[in-house]
Order: sequence, then structure tokens, then C-alpha cells
Amino acid sequence: DHRLSKRVNEMATSATLAMAAKTRELKEQGVDIIGLSLGEPDFPIPDYVKQAAIVAIEENYHAYTPVDGYGDLKKAIITKFKRDNNLEYKPSQIVVSTGAKQSLANLMMVLLDEGDEVLLPAPYWVSYADQSKVAGGVPKEIPTSIETDFKVTPQALEAAITPKTKMIVYSSPCNPSGSVYSRAELRKLADVLVKYPEIIVISDEIYEHINFTGNHASMAEFDDMYDRTVVVNGVSKAFSMTGWRIGYIGGPEWIARACDKMQGQVTSGANCIAQRATITALENPPSKIKFMVDAFKERRSLILKLLSEIEGFKTNNPEGAFYVFPDISYFFGKTLRGKNINTASDFSLYLLEEAKVATVTGEAFGDANCIRLSYAASEKEITEAMHRIKEALK
Ligand code: PLP
Repeated sequence: DHRLSKRVNEMATSATLAMAAKTRELKEQGVDIIGLSLGEPDFPIPDYVKQAAIVAIEENYHAYTPVDGYGDLKKAIITKFKRDNNLEYKPSQIVVSTGAKQSLANLMMVLLDEGDEVLLPAPYWVSYADQSKVAGGVPKEIPTSIETDFKVTPQALEAAITPKTKMIVYSSPCNPSGSVYSRAELRKLADVLVKYPEIIVISDEIYEHINFTGNHASMAEFDDMYDRTVVVNGVSKAFSMTGWRIGYIGGPEWIARACDKMQGQVTSGANCIAQRATITALENPPSKIKFMVDAFKERRSLILKLLSEIEGFKTNNPEGAFYVFPDISYFFGKTLRGKNINTASDFSLYLLEEAKVATVTGEAFGDANCIRLSYAASEKEITEAMHRIKEALK
């Protein structure tokens, strides 16, 4: 509608949420869809976290919180950063938001001016590109491929830098590829970035705990990068708290204070009960959620094995998060059951219609040869979904 702003008219709808809505709609019509499109753990929230929320309600927590989060929550976040990442922060460097998604949106809004370039090693998480565009930025994809495990090389990074480069945004473990940057790999990228001191690094570490290598590294660990790296994290993935909407950042004070200012005009801060529960979630050691990580690891083996039995799917070995991102370009130019497959979107739609399995097209993540499958689903669902896909592609 022309009465809407250019800003929203030019913005893409979140492809993952659109697929989730379509899945929900088909399910409501009675169609038996298996949803592998959403990045949402299927475990219940740990009991100790639920209990903390109940206690907070009973203790009459109800009022607006400080815009950047309760002081004792910020303290719990600081302790977590020290315990899990050996990173030191002061309370003024922490901002709690309505999901890591808002943390990222704040960062785009406070750091980008019209025309500023945002480097996005592709494949990247869906919202980075549109959030930066809304803020006036220009997303610049840096293509990678399955041959480099979907990781950006120092050479490709340096080649993409221009005088307009304002920031680089990436996730490790990565949604959608499952790739995990090792400390040595991050150091090599840092060696490029130290030559360009104006560039800010946004390190999205929301899948930190869902890492099968047992080793999580952050760009902020390097002394020469700490002052210009913002770590984004949250409780959605590790604690199965997606609907509770709590994310947070640790970063340079000047950036954190700007996010606080921005958020003060947009949401006034995150939900108070969810903030209380997050204190308890973060105070407990990660060992308490290891059972989820172990389950994801088994499901990864299962889905990789079943995918390897289907002709035309090429996969990397995802070392974290809960996605596989197979290259399915083998099917381009083919006709299946009378339907032409020319793009990853065609293929994803074909799987929805013919296999009744919801996936997400790689185009949404900046990689047109792939689709994303989430294995945050039961082993039964994964097995049945792969069976259906195999049948539909015969
Ligand atoms: N960053 C990445 C890489 C994600 O995959 C997601 C959720 O899908 C988010 C951020 C946003 O998480 P939240 O639920 O905290 O907004």
C-alpha cells in the first residue's frame, strides 16, 4: 500500500516466520505437516527457571524495570560472561533487550547512518540484512561455500572492506550453516580487522552452548578487538525460552549507552518476569542444560545419516546450533512431478507441497543453492520427514 512508509514497503518479511505461519495455517486445515523450519528447541523450560518466574509473580514484580535491565540481572550476565567466556564487563556495558533480535536491531539503529556498509558473511541469519536496511545501512554479502565449511576467509573479508564499511555481523555457531569458528580462525579474521580500526564487530553468540566441539570462542576475547566488539547473546536457544523474549549484549560502554537510549524510546525495556527468570537461568552452570545439547548432537547424526541416503543433498558437518544447510543445486533445472525446480525457493515449496515438510529457502540467508532444515524436532519427526522427502524426490 502506497500509504505505508518506503521503509516497510522495501523490507522483506522474515522468511522463517513466514514459513512458520504457513505451517501453522496448513496444520489448522488438518494437513499433516512436519515443521523443520523454525529455530526453536522443543524441550520444556528447565523447572528451576519456571519456578523463578512463578516466585517473581508472587513477589509482585510488576513495574517498569530499568530500561537496560535489572541491576541484579546485569550482575548475573557479567558473572556468566566471566564464567563461560572469560570476558570482563561493567554494568554500564550491558543492555538487556526483548530478545537478541531487539539487541541486534538496537545496534543497527545506533551505529548505522545512511549508506554505511554492513558486511555479512553469507549464509547469515535472516534478520541482519533487513534490520540494517531499515537503519539506512547497505548489506554487503561476502559469499562463502560449502568448500570452506561456509566460513569467510581472511582474504575474502579484506577484499570486501571499503571506506564505507561500518560493521561486520556474523553468528558462531552459525544459523543457518551450523559452522563454528575456532579461536585460530577468529584470530586470522581479527588480524585483518585490526588494520581497519573503525569497523565494529557484532558477534552473535546466541548458539554458544549448542556447540558439539566443546569449544566456544569469541572475537571479544582478543585484547586488540575487545574495545570494538559487541557480543550478542540470549536465553532463547540454550534454555528453550524463545517466547520469553530476553536477549542481551556486552560491549563498549558508548555503544551500550546508545542502545539504552534507543530502547528507552522504543520498548522501555524487557518484560520484568522474564528478566527475573533469566537471572536464575544464567546463574546455573551450563552443565544443567547439557542434556539438550547431547540430544541435539544425536539428532544431528540422525539427520545427516538420513540426508546422505537421499541423492542430491550435499552437506557440511555442522558443529553447532541445530540446523543443516544442504546444497541442493543438484535439483535445479529438473522437473519433479510436473513441477519445475529452478531455485532453492522452488525446492523448499516443493517439499512443503509434496512431502509435507516445512524448510526454509537458502535465499533468505543469502545462499541461493541451499535450504535450511532445523533438527530441533523429535527423532521420530526427523525420521518421518526424511522418509517423506526421499519419497517425494524419487
Ligand atoms: N541470532 C540468531 C543467529 C538467531 O538464530 C536468532 C533466533 O532465531 C536470534 C539471533 C534471535 O533470538 P531471540 O529469540 O533472542 O530474539
